Amino acid sequence: MKTCTKCKVEKDEAEFSKETSRKDGLSYRCKSCMREYQQTDAFKASQKAYQQTDAYKAYLKAHQQTDDYKACLKARHQTDDYKAYQKAYRQTNDYKAYQKAYKQTDDYKASQKAYQQTDAYKAYLKARQQGDDYKAYQKAYRQTDAYKEYQKAYQKAYQQTDAYKASRKQAYQKRKALAASLPGNAAS
Ligand SMILES: [Zn+2]
Repeated sequence: MKTCTKCKVEKDEAEFSKETSRKDGLSYRCKSCMREYQQTDAFKASQKAYQQTDAYKAYLKAHQQTDDYKACLKARHQTDDYKAYQKAYRQTNDYKAYQKAYKQTDDYKASQKAYQQTDAYKAYLKARQQGDDYKAYQKAYRQTDAYKEYQKAYQKAYQQTDAYKASRKQAYQKRKALAASLPGNAAS
């Protein structure tokens, strides 16, 4: 049992979120007080400020290297929600501006240059000359390492965009709302 410093009610440890930075590994607020706190402007402002810090950026970067994150990302990319989001995103001016900016980067130029050395590209040129199916070329191209590298660089650059950050925030809030709505989490 642990007493919440906010509502002063003694509750089961399960009623407190885990917080590794604290001595007992638990938050000092109970879950329902925490939820209330998370609705406040003070909390939202502190979150926003925290996301600007180097510590957070370093954490995010490290986190994005974990297998957990990669698996989670992969799973998320399979969802219809994400596909719809991607489709909508490609229509935005943000994306168009990003694309334009990306094509100016050395990353892109290097990937283009590397790609033009590949057999796939040479085959594509040849196919184009012969009027072969463009879709077959596209399919083959997506198998190439050059394309995979391009995708990777693209993803990395994309994760720096405000649009991506906003989408992550939205997904996080959706998850949070879902978690809060589960019966076991009802405010006590
Ligand atoms: Zn409380």
